[in-house]
Amino acid sequence: MSQHFDSIVIGAGYAGAAAAALLANNAKDTLLIEAHYALGGCASFFRRKHFFFDSGATTLSGVLPNQPLGQLQKQLGISFHLSHLPIGMIIKSKQGDIIRYADKNQWIQECNTHFPHPQQADFWNELYRLEKKVWDIVANNPFFPPATATDIFRLAKPSNLKGITLLKGIISPLDALLKHYRLHDNPQFRRFIDEQLIISTQSYADTAPYITSAMGLTYPSQTYYPYGGIVQPVKAIINSFTDNGGTLRTNEAVTAIHKQKNTWLIHTSKGKTFSAKNLISSIPVWNMPSITHDDVRQYFHKKAKHFDFSWGAFMVYFAIETKESLPTAYYQIHTEEIIPHCQSRSFFATISLSDDTFKAPAGWKTVTISTHTLTRHWMEMNDHDYHHAKHQTLEYIMQHFDKHFPQLRHCKKEWINAATPRTFSHYTHRLNGNVGGIPHSIKQNFLTLPHNVTPFKGLYHIGDSAFPGQGTPSVVLGASNVVQRILQE
Ligand SMILES: Cc1cc2nc3c(=O)[nH]c(=O)nc-3n(C[C@H](O)[C@H](O)[C@H](O)COP(=O)(O)OP(=O)(O)OC[C@H]3O[C@@H](n4cnc5c(N)ncnc54)[C@H](O)[C@@H]3O)c2cc1C
Repeated sequence: MSQHFDSIVIGAGYAGAAAAALLANNAKDTLLIEAHYALGGCASFFRRKHFFFDSGATTLSGVLPNQPLGQLQKQLGISFHLSHLPIGMIIKSKQGDIIRYADKNQWIQECNTHFPHPQQADFWNELYRLEKKVWDIVANNPFFPPATATDIFRLAKPSNLKGITLLKGIISPLDALLKHYRLHDNPQFRRFIDEQLIISTQSYADTAPYITSAMGLTYPSQTYYPYGGIVQPVKAIINSFTDNGGTLRTNEAVTAIHKQKNTWLIHTSKGKTFSAKNLISSIPVWNMPSITHDDVRQYFHKKAKHFDFSWGAFMVYFAIETKESLPTAYYQIHTEEIIPHCQSRSFFATISLSDDTFKAPAGWKTVTISTHTLTRHWMEMNDHDYHHAKHQTLEYIMQHFDKHFPQLRHCKKEWINAATPRTFSHYTHRLNGNVGGIPHSIKQNFLTLPHNVTPFKGLYHIGDSAFPGQGTPSVVLGASNVVQRILQE
């Protein structure tokens, strides 16, 4: 006999944790099942002696009251330990430091200093205006994009009329907006924009829709540093889940999903079977065909084939002994050439704040660095080439880190380590180490992404390869929309 639940949620990253906690908060008997012993997925951690490292994601945003992580905290009655950074990020390049002040006017002034242009202020004001409008609309439309005729009816309200003008921004790339403001022909500005876009939308200005770009380019105004690591909010969400009676099983992978009449059955790596009326999977679309069957498998196989590209990440981690007080936790470092074995001319470094003594003891900081790479490159190498390539990329990044942080160059560094798509594949179970979801583009914009509602009654798909895409606020939005749908049924 299988144990029966109202709902089963697969995967305890941000998406799965949020969905499970919201269901339990609404008295739904829910099972959350996670393959790894650690929680968080791409926003997880690892520990080395006294040091605590973010293993993938590091920055939190979308925590204002009308935004997904703000709403989640309110609904669950929890609050995350965060610091809103007055400097959201510093971009380091051979031209000097560009400071992404959180304050909009201060940032526009800074941008005009580096890239003087009469329409610079208009361009950024437009991005901030678009960003606000999008958040207002998504906060009020949990049934968007529509999956049923009732959803279309639900969307037909006067407050949504102002959203119609946003549709153009889904099918036009940021390039169109840059041209409109005559900002397209300064190669240094274009480089700056592209490097900011690749870390926020996973695309560049020629393909990234300008709505998604507005969200990505303005996020340094709302950058929050999560004390103790980005997994701490996940832990708080899951504590709420278990406090509300939810069942958490870790270190246990779902190996098969079957449908039996109106019930979903899951089989696990520990030989158990569980059943539920609703099954919410937060694992990537590329993983779904290997655990589903028949028409469900065909559905996910077709989606996985259609959305066949996702980035991989190359990571560097180390602890550094320094009492230096740095202006922010987040840095983007531009390199002159493409980083070896990667696809990027920049890397993103997160340096723990001095008062975050959970991540590192006083006088030390932990550093997590990430950059974009192609998964296949690492998955297909033989072991000898793999270790050589990993070492070469690690060395390159360390040299450039030292070059851009001269004040840290001679500080003692410990636990220097690197990770590749092979590492992500092992620890997060993501097929081929595909991370960062489906890059947004004008062809594959968030309206065309795999829907959270599948054609199979009671089966939902959330996480960064489904609507509305990647990033912790987005996956929490998808999770929360699905829960609202389940609760209304
Ligand atoms: C290097 C890097 C940096 C990033 N930086 C940021 C950032 O700074 N800010 C930000 O907001 N976003 C960032 N992102 C994106 C963000 O991390 C992800 O979009 C988000 O965490 C994805 O959450 P998820 O729940 O959809 O998926 P995941 O985090 O992948 O969670 C899915 C979970 O499912 C589990 N699982 C898989 N298969 C099974 C199975 N068969 N059975 C049971 N469990 C299973 C996995 O172990 C995992 O825990 C970054 C991503 C990467 C890779």
